[in-house]
Amino acid sequence: MSSIDRRRFLQAAAAMGLITLPPAGRTLGYAGTKKRLVNTNGVSVIPTLQTVENYSVQAVPLDQVTITDSFWRPRMEANRNVSLDYCLVRFESGSVFNVAKLVEAAAYMLTDRADQQLETSIDGTINEMLASLDSRLENPDQAVRVSGHFLEAATAYYKATGKRQILEVALKAADQIDQGYGPEKDTYISGHQGLKMGLIALYRNTGDDRYWKLAKFFADERGKEDYERLGEYARDRTMAQDHAPVIDQTEAVGHCVRATFLYIPMTDIGTLAQSDAYSDAVDAIWQDTIHYKTYLTGGIGSIRFHEQFGEAYELPNLSAWNETCAAYGMVVWNHRLFLRDKDAKYIDVMERVLYNALLVGVNLQGDRFFYQNPLKSFGDYERFEWINVPCCPPNVVRMVASVGEYIYASGPSNEVYVNLFVDSTAQVTLNETTVTLRQDTRYPWDGQVALHVEPESATRFTVHLRIPGWTGDTVMPGDLYQFIGDTPTPPTVRLNGDPVPLIVEHGYIRLDRTWNAGDLIELDLPMPVRQVVAHPNVEDDRDRVALQRGPLVYCAEWPDNGGRALNIVVPDDAELDTEFRPNLLEGIQVISGPVQAIERRDNSNSTTHAVPHQLTAIPYYVWANRGMGEMAVWMARTPTQAWLPPLPPKQISEVRTSGGVQKGWTGYNDQNDDLASVYDGREPLNSADQSHRFFRMRPPVGQPAWLEYVFKQPTEISSAETYWFDDKRFCKFPSSWRILYRHEDRWHPVATRDPYTVAHDTFSTVTFDPVTTTAVRLEVEPQTESYKVGDIGPPGALFLDEDIEWREFGLIEWRVT
Ligand SMILES: [Zn+2]
Repeated sequence: MSSIDRRRFLQAAAAMGLITLPPAGRTLGYAGTKKRLVNTNGVSVIPTLQTVENYSVQAVPLDQVTITDSFWRPRMEANRNVSLDYCLVRFESGSVFNVAKLVEAAAYMLTDRADQQLETSIDGTINEMLASLDSRLENPDQAVRVSGHFLEAATAYYKATGKRQILEVALKAADQIDQGYGPEKDTYISGHQGLKMGLIALYRNTGDDRYWKLAKFFADERGKEDYERLGEYARDRTMAQDHAPVIDQTEAVGHCVRATFLYIPMTDIGTLAQSDAYSDAVDAIWQDTIHYKTYLTGGIGSIRFHEQFGEAYELPNLSAWNETCAAYGMVVWNHRLFLRDKDAKYIDVMERVLYNALLVGVNLQGDRFFYQNPLKSFGDYERFEWINVPCCPPNVVRMVASVGEYIYASGPSNEVYVNLFVDSTAQVTLNETTVTLRQDTRYPWDGQVALHVEPESATRFTVHLRIPGWTGDTVMPGDLYQFIGDTPTPPTVRLNGDPVPLIVEHGYIRLDRTWNAGDLIELDLPMPVRQVVAHPNVEDDRDRVALQRGPLVYCAEWPDNGGRALNIVVPDDAELDTEFRPNLLEGIQVISGPVQAIERRDNSNSTTHAVPHQLTAIPYYVWANRGMGEMAVWMARTPTQAWLPPLPPKQISEVRTSGGVQKGWTGYNDQNDDLASVYDGREPLNSADQSHRFFRMRPPVGQPAWLEYVFKQPTEISSAETYWFDDKRFCKFPSSWRILYRHEDRWHPVATRDPYTVAHDTFSTVTFDPVTTTAVRLEVEPQTESYKVGDIGPPGALFLDEDIEWREFGLIEWRVT
């Protein structure tokens, strides 16, 4: 590549937010005194692979765990038999970023159960992927852009099959990167963060320190001031967690997926480099995430715009982003934190994410997926068949395929950790003795776990048995959520029939003894239905309650509740019960009981009243398998918070408009849009309130946008109030508005007594000389915004390939009296 080509390429890459360029004057070449290493084109000599661990305990690997669980096994089979192929045929082989994740998933599936046909097919996929990569591995600049997921896939596939081809290419890529980048070589700040994870995976499987040190170099480069930022995140470097050196970061900010994909390697590096600065930063960020920015389901990333974290306590349910990829990241990140600290608080979070925010990302069939995972639906949201940015499906597929790795962990000091309760068998070497652990359980449907401990011969080791935080008063670490009502009966543990005192340290009961074949630990985790409330600072959850049982968060969905869910009221003293329904949604434990629901007494918004209702709540992960309709995780505690579709005010016969935005049901969903919001009488929290609905319009230049109320009979009016929406991105406050009334089939402006204003966070009111009319019209002139080619622009928050003019405004409420 000539230097001009290279500059152009780098500028293009920078414009995509992939890298940052040094300021003018600083050479882009391989600066410094370090001699460039000989290009090891075609390297095929792999060091003898050895697995090295940077943590004091390790996951018991997949090849030593067999899952026989009635909860997970059906999910794994749908994943294997449907999802994998479903995704593979939809990706072009060139999409290394995504195909690699599927190759990784296939590796786990082959470890779970050998299958020559699957392996042959994946070999073909790998060949295509490698062919598409070929030209990209000849120099460091190209190699550095190869997805880190490719490096992860390479190690996973090698471990599963012993086939070296993909690993050789991965090592070649990593070696190229190592030649070109590092201290006193080139630098690179990626938009996506996966490379560091991939390099550390290579280190773990080769023991070659260069790889994790390179990951640390790339992490260290973030936030430095020596470089000029271009492209997507130049205006807001928090978006790629590039706003400060990573060791100085204390809050979870920016893009939620990129964030977790940075926090995972930061956790690794903290241990590998024995860096307190890294570990302290990760601890601070984790606390910020869990104490202030995590949904009850374990989902993160509350803001749709740039898919990012919100402020502390900013957790709107309807517009929640909660990207499935971020749930994947949360599972892995919390697992690494457990490996580091051997503290079950991380497993508590991991389990919550796994059973709720992650698993909801795919339907039971295995062929529909969620990108964003709201906790509330007005009935216009469902999983997609496929979308243009399909990053999430492969992450669900690789997580479900690898769930066996999150159940057990063991360490060199003869200790084994039982973290998840999954009907399974594991083989662990403890005190130089092979020990078989066998769990019999119906978890999460009930909390009885029989753990059979079978050492080959009597030997001493320690079993750490997790006692989940939810069995006591802890919903999640911190005080973001709280259980209300009585503390349930504590768990019991018996060893060979004898009670074991419930002494819980760091979330575990420690059983240190000489174990004999036939030893049996019986764990009973009572699972009453628990009511959960959120911290009062979470505006959208105020006066609302959620239901949890065991690790599962529940929701009310329309098919089980007379076609609605948002009208349900669950009083604090509701007596809720639970039962297993084998024929519902492949067999689930439901929560049911007498509660209330609101109804209308007549055709008016203001005369709702509560009537008895028989609630059926289902696990959140299983919603949206029966078509579109209402869903609520957070249900009203009192009738005032319950909701029914609004009717137009009594005197209005019809509401008309020149046209709203085209509404998407899936993918980048904007389910907030609805014309009914303008007359529903609900006052928003502020102009940027996305916790409820609004009505947006995008009129072309020269065409004013309008809404009309048609009256049932001639009506006298003398004032109008408007409440404008501002999403702080592409939807702006209007430039101006005016009121017209209909007289003899023509529209006439009203004679105002005060000027029109556009108020922020409150109603804009105008009074005018009274008129008696059959219809009133609100006419709006939007602002016109210009976006340039290359900008992130409307409507999809993607890079624009042409200059555009954009006119968009939103109305939350319009009242005429
Ligand atoms: Zn995604």
